[in-house]
Amino acid sequence: MNNKNEKKVYYFITSECIKCGICVDVCPISAIEEADEQYIITDACINCGKCKVACPIEAIKGK
Ligand code: SF4
Ligand code: SF4
Repeated sequence: MNNKNEKKVYYFITSECIKCGICVDVCPISAIEEADEQYIITDACINCGKCKVACPIEAIKGK
């Protein structure tokens, strides 16, 4: 029984991330969290794409 509505997150942050925190500020649902070396996009992400546009060094990829 495959659930075709299974949620997928299409965006991810690469190791280029400099932890500036801008993506955290623009995410409307606080789906981005700080990890040790970089920020990460969690499963809560709704794929709005705002973080990708906002990242100054294009460290956010996907979709
Ligand atoms: S795509 Fe939208 S919801 Fe997902 S992490 Fe980026 S800003 Fe947040
Ligand atoms: S905006 Fe880009 S560089 Fe800044 S914390 Fe987010 S992913 Fe990292």
